[in-house]
Amino acid sequence: MEPERLEFFRQLLQDRLQEILGEADKTRTDMTGMAASAFPDPTDRATLETDRNFTLRIRDRERKLITKIREALERIDDGSYGVCEICGGDIAEKRLIARPVTTMCIACKSQQEALERSRGV
Ligand SMILES: [Zn+2]
Repeated sequence: MEPERLEFFRQLLQDRLQEILGEADKTRTDMTGMAASAFPDPTDRATLETDRNFTLRIRDRERKLITKIREALERIDDGSYGVCEICGGDIAEKRLIARPVTTMCIACKSQQEALERSRGV
């Protein structure tokens, strides 16, 4: 992939990551407010509770997506981004724009899904 295109996708992925982390931060702020009203003398306790809740409250799906985005950014760095992990062919840019964390071209993805369906997964 052209370096300019890689930069484009890097930006796309980083924006998405910031978006998710921003959401998580909002959750954290909400929790601070809640904890503070729950305890009469909240300062230390609230900090402790908030950190624990913060980790618990990042939804599982978001955690997985964060991991996928970080992996995609690593692929940009090592030059394997946009290459299908199954057949080694280029993944169409249209597909990457729609789903920048994808690691498979549409043909391999369809094949995999067909296989999963036939296995009854
Ligand atoms: Zn493929």
